[in-house]
Amino acid sequence: MNNKPSYEELEAKIKVLENKSLLVDSLKQDIEINNIFLKKLFDTIPNPIFYKSKDGVYEQCNNAFSKTILGVPKEKIIGKTLYDLKEYIPKKYADIYYKKDAELFSNPKEQFYEGAVKCADGVTRDYHFYKSPFIIEGEVLGLVGVMLDVSNYKNTLLELKNKNQILSDLSITDHLTGLYNRRYFQEIFEKKLSLLNRYNYQFSFALLDIDFFKDYNDFYGHHEGDIALQEISNILKNTLNRPNDYVFRVGGEEFAILFEVGILDSAHCVIEELRKKVEDLKIIACNNSVCHYMTISVGLGNILKVAPNTNSEVIYDEVDKLLYRSKESGRNKITVKDIII
Ligand code: GH3
Ligand code: MG
Ligand code: MG
Repeated sequence: MNNKPSYEELEAKIKVLENKSLLVDSLKQDIEINNIFLKKLFDTIPNPIFYKSKDGVYEQCNNAFSKTILGVPKEKIIGKTLYDLKEYIPKKYADIYYKKDAELFSNPKEQFYEGAVKCADGVTRDYHFYKSPFIIEGEVLGLVGVMLDVSNYKNTLLELKNKNQILSDLSITDHLTGLYNRRYFQEIFEKKLSLLNRYNYQFSFALLDIDFFKDYNDFYGHHEGDIALQEISNILKNTLNRPNDYVFRVGGEEFAILFEVGILDSAHCVIEELRKKVEDLKIIACNNSVCHYMTISVGLGNILKVAPNTNSEVIYDEVDKLLYRSKESGRNKITVKDIII
């Protein structure tokens, strides 16, 4: 029996082999194109990307990593560890990255953290790090890291926060005197009343009004009037400057003060000091019937007890009546009362 393949059979086998070889060539070409494409993609991505082996050696990185982060060609990075690159990576940062890599290798899961990076241009920026273990058939071979520059985002956030703070400060400030405004008075007053109800937390409330201010304004003009308002406001601010003291401008030449003193008797002393300081400013008054200088009249209520759900206006009116009594009894005076409602 002749086992030798016939000439035709051999030709057919050669044809099959030739076709296979063509297929392999075409696959090789596809792989090569894919490789070029992936390399291009890798280097076009603006985020720094790197691949490190399990022993901490940089095996791969893209252009963004070599140019933006280290500022050296890839060849100087590949094959090196963090500590081999101490010329470009300050030790304090290398220690952080090393610790994070070790954490990931001991617990091979996705890792995310934020860190400072000293970039090639000398600027330290905040980056988000997204790292992931590279696992083949259950074995951790290394890690892939992608970095995202969040400095602009963080700066914008900080600016926004600062602007919000400025806006919120402005919304509670009287622009002429820099004191808190009436809106904020209402907020703090309500807060203090609710604390009084819940914790028996007593406080003092004074309403102040400049005497004969209209005459002063009419005589010297509005601008001088504004200056006098600012001078008196500064006295109030500087005299009541403890953490729980609040001074508000609640009307044209009217002020409210919410404050706390250890012994309630001394609330009167604080306000008396204030009255005296205003007089001592020696702003020449226009109506000399009370004093040669500009003065204030005050109603002072020591708020001791308030029934729950009492409207804050009721307490305000009580203290306003005390102010009115100071005006009626000759001005430049303080009328005090313990308020229990
Ligand atoms: P009294 O002793 O009874 O309090 O008399 P008064 O003149 O102080 O009181 P009145 O309420 O008659 O006048 C207050 C004046 O305050 C009227 C207004 O011209 C002045 N005024 C209110 N707001 C401002 C302000 O923002 N700037 C200036 N310059 N004056 C103001
Ligand atoms: Mg008034
Ligand atoms: Mg007045």
